[in-house]
Amino acid sequence: MKIKADYTNAPQWKELNIKSSLPEQLECLNELAHNMWWAWNYEARKVFKSLDEDLYEEVGHNPVLLLDRLGYDRKEAIVKDKTIMKKVKDIYAKFRKYMDVKPDSSRPSVAYFSMEYGLDQVLKIYSGGLGMLAGDYMKEASDSNVDMCGIGFLYRFGYFTQSLNMDGQQIAKYDAQDFNSLPIERVLDENGNQVVVDVPYMNYQVHALVWQVNVGRIKLYLLDTDNDMNSQFDKPITHSLYGGDWENRLKQEILLGMGGVLMLKKLGIKKRLYHCNEGHAALCNLQRLVDYVDSGLTFNQALELVRASSLYTVHTPVPAGHDYFDEGLFGKYMGGYPARLGISWDEFIGMGRENPDDHNERFCMSIFACNTCQEVNGVSKLHGWVSQKMFAPIWKGYYPEENHVGYVTNGVHFPTWCATEWRKVYDKYFDPSFLSDQSNEQIWHAIYNVPDDEIWATRMTLKEKLIKYIRDKFTKQWLRNQGDPARVVSLLERINPNALMIGFCRRFATYKRAHLLFTDLDRLSKIVNDPEHPVLFFFSGKAHPADGAGQGLIKRIFEISQRPEFLGKIIFLEDYDMQLARRLVSGVDIWMNTPTRPLEASGTSGEKAEMNGVVNLSVLDGWWVEGYRQGAGWALPQERTYQNQGYQDSLDAATIYSLLENEIVPLYYAKNKKGYSENWIKVIKNSIATIAPHYTMKRQLDDYYSKFYDKEAARSAKLQAHDNRLAKEIAQWKENVAERWDSIRVVSKDEAPLYEERQTGKKYKLSYVIDEQGLSNAVGLELVILKPDTDPSDRRIYRVDEFKMVGHEGNNFRFELEVEPEHAGTFKTCVRMFPKNTNLPHRQDFCYVKWLD
Ligand SMILES: *Cc1c(COP(=O)(O)O)cnc(C)c1O
Repeated sequence: MKIKADYTNAPQWKELNIKSSLPEQLECLNELAHNMWWAWNYEARKVFKSLDEDLYEEVGHNPVLLLDRLGYDRKEAIVKDKTIMKKVKDIYAKFRKYMDVKPDSSRPSVAYFSMEYGLDQVLKIYSGGLGMLAGDYMKEASDSNVDMCGIGFLYRFGYFTQSLNMDGQQIAKYDAQDFNSLPIERVLDENGNQVVVDVPYMNYQVHALVWQVNVGRIKLYLLDTDNDMNSQFDKPITHSLYGGDWENRLKQEILLGMGGVLMLKKLGIKKRLYHCNEGHAALCNLQRLVDYVDSGLTFNQALELVRASSLYTVHTPVPAGHDYFDEGLFGKYMGGYPARLGISWDEFIGMGRENPDDHNERFCMSIFACNTCQEVNGVSKLHGWVSQKMFAPIWKGYYPEENHVGYVTNGVHFPTWCATEWRKVYDKYFDPSFLSDQSNEQIWHAIYNVPDDEIWATRMTLKEKLIKYIRDKFTKQWLRNQGDPARVVSLLERINPNALMIGFCRRFATYKRAHLLFTDLDRLSKIVNDPEHPVLFFFSGKAHPADGAGQGLIKRIFEISQRPEFLGKIIFLEDYDMQLARRLVSGVDIWMNTPTRPLEASGTSGEKAEMNGVVNLSVLDGWWVEGYRQGAGWALPQERTYQNQGYQDSLDAATIYSLLENEIVPLYYAKNKKGYSENWIKVIKNSIATIAPHYTMKRQLDDYYSKFYDKEAARSAKLQAHDNRLAKEIAQWKENVAERWDSIRVVSKDEAPLYEERQTGKKYKLSYVIDEQGLSNAVGLELVILKPDTDPSDRRIYRVDEFKMVGHEGNNFRFELEVEPEHAGTFKTCVRMFPKNTNLPHRQDFCYVKWLD
């Protein structure tokens, strides 16, 4: 035998996690670090920073990691330092005071499902606006002390980190998160083991570990499949956000919706309402249906209960943006459910189709959400209308403007996004009730009492802070990645804090039109290079790794930014995250947004800018349609001039150039002796006083309660009372109506007046007799009149008048309507019959319609 040159086996590494111990006096910091409360309390962050400033930077402002890495000597020194210890004690007392407030159960409780949450940059479980919204919502739920919990994923890799190479090509890097150093906790069972949820997939189970993030008083539960109980095919379910193929996406959505509900059950958590943030979470309603059917209800009864207690918020303005699954793939995972629910496969998959019987249609998660949630809402007034139109094909028989899709305009969490410098100004001048009464414009009007000098000083501090941040953060990285050091140094030197600074920072999706500004480079060069009135642009944002066009856009902007005439005048900042966003939305002078109308569902970064005295220059789309006030920012017109997008882009670009040249730059540089423009300060004050109060997360949360949660909670409680009596009644009633619907018929009618020569100001009486086939007063009739000559894509209803049921003989019900035409013209009219029951929330809840001839 020849002796091998080497011979060994592979080590089986075991994870050993050694936590550094803290002196008893500092234990409270551990508790503080593990509650995200610090993310919106700058004093708490200041205390952590004061423990070791360099280390705090090194660990990326992550307090858990900070405490972990704090050296023994340093800990000893801290304990002996009276000043620091007093601060520690004070901040902990403040935290306890916040936490020890009695939970308030007067408002309905809510389970909130979302694929992503943006709470702080140290917890990489977000990619962009949707996550920011969910994170801000959790924080406000905590501040408002409502009974809510969140359900999401703990991603191993999250969304990618962005850098650009020398050519401006985006490089996406996925860094694994070490869960032990994050501000999260394991959820433990009574034996001290981490809770595991077993989620059925086809004929096996996926096992998800349960973690929790303490968001002030709120718990956010995160599921994690990256563990050895799962096969290599299932571990990656929670690896990355919006990565992987459609199969992985479906597996994620099963985990979020169904796994989320199973997890709540396992933890014994019951909430009144279920809120799907975007269609991703809609399968929570499938699990709830299954549970109700398992408990002995019929499918129709279960659906009544599920619908009554759920809300779907849509964030996408175009059908192409929704999740669709092929029947084959969908069937692979969901094939067993119809039998459990007592319905057929076609009936089941039909719940995710516009036309349930069209076998060519894929299963759409958003349509499933619409069919299983009583209420649906868009995220701004305009987007509400866009969503009404988008979903209108689901509810045939009604025109878009008639359906129940509503809206709540997005807002942002004030304490998170308002810079510390501004917080101090507000604390000094605003009424102390301010934080609990944020939507009260009267309070914000106190901004007019702040001296101009103070406003300007605050602005300048934040501008300088942004520039310092950029120099600190990017110098090394640019020197490493972007070749010619001389150019990098010259770029950095050229950044001028006194320039008018404009930010354009968001996801690089093509509809956001980041290219608009570069339509006429000569004109742009004149604007930025004016020696007396320089202008400086910052661009930042990631493009989805599969979005070639978005990445092309970044590359083009990068290339332009490297040209001599634009160097240091147009700057691309890599890896847009919450920290960079916070600096930018408070550091620039103008926040610019130029989406293609009406594709910006809401947008929120411009709202963040408002509370920091940063003025918006934006297309009238999303929230800005509602937010814009004259004298408080600038708007590009809402109406489209050209159908051709290229022409429209050129026109919009020309509008921006001319606004800059003729209004914005001259206004900014009309400086007084003290070095600032009084009229610019006026714009800042107007925008803080009249816009900011209406776009806080507090207003958004209150809107969800007043528009949706309160009424759904009341109705679903009614349906559930006495062993679900009303739910059963409604289901039975619907079954009866559905069975007889086709045979309900017109016995006689007198609609002649409809066709007579009619005149305004005269009264006409229409009447119908309907045989209800044994149903009792179960239908309503209405006369629908369309507007004359309307554009088919526009709102079409002129008016709808309901008939009065005036009596019946046996099955024959008599309906009458008196009409009095107000306007002359040729109208289209038709009589519409619908099921009528005051226990229904709206027509689309039971969307049977028969147009009578
Ligand atoms: C606020 C924010 C967004 C969303 O901004 P929009 O205006 O909706 O595009 C995206 N990413 C980060 C990091 C943010 O802070």
